[in-house]
Amino acid sequence: MTGDNWMLDSGITCSYDGDVIEYTDGVVVMLVIKPFIVEGQLLFFDVKTEDEDDYLYEPSFFHAKNWEEIDEQFRTYVGERPELLLDGSVLNCTYCKSGILQGETTGIATFGEIQRSQRNPDLKTYGNHFENLDRNPTIICVACLMDLNNDVQEIWPDGVCHADECPEGTYVRCWRSGCEGNCQNKIPE
Ligand SMILES: [Zn+2]
Ligand SMILES: [Zn+2]
Repeated sequence: MTGDNWMLDSGITCSYDGDVIEYTDGVVVMLVIKPFIVEGQLLFFDVKTEDEDDYLYEPSFFHAKNWEEIDEQFRTYVGERPELLLDGSVLNCTYCKSGILQGETTGIATFGEIQRSQRNPDLKTYGNHFENLDRNPTIICVACLMDLNNDVQEIWPDGVCHADECPEGTYVRCWRSGCEGNCQNKIPE
């Protein structure tokens, strides 16, 4: 850090170009969640590791202009993929339009900015806080999330799936109705 810019350094880097995100930059945060309806309200729950201690998929941050680039590339990549519509879906994927059921692993990309929180009197340090400035976040179904991560922009090096299913199973959502591939959802012969 040189000059006066350290004042603006949020300490968070962009997952696309590795550059520092400043407090005044437009930012897109990508979270992996599971949607559930609780008392009539659609709520998003973090996807946690088995011991519930940590994120299974670390939240990632992008400069808004870089996310636009990724978004455009991915729209081209998805093209006219047939959508999987279904009854009972609580969300639809922004890219392939497929329905998403309660409890299914889903990506949410939200525009906003990183703000400096109030100084914490005990720790004498500043924390960061993400201010959501977007009422219509981008919704990404698990099949699109897998393709985005594998072929357009790697975000999670260990890959993305819903419940340890096989990659073909992620496309057909084999946890719903069984799998032609070879995983725990395989339909018995
Ligand atoms: Zn999709
Ligand atoms: Zn499978």
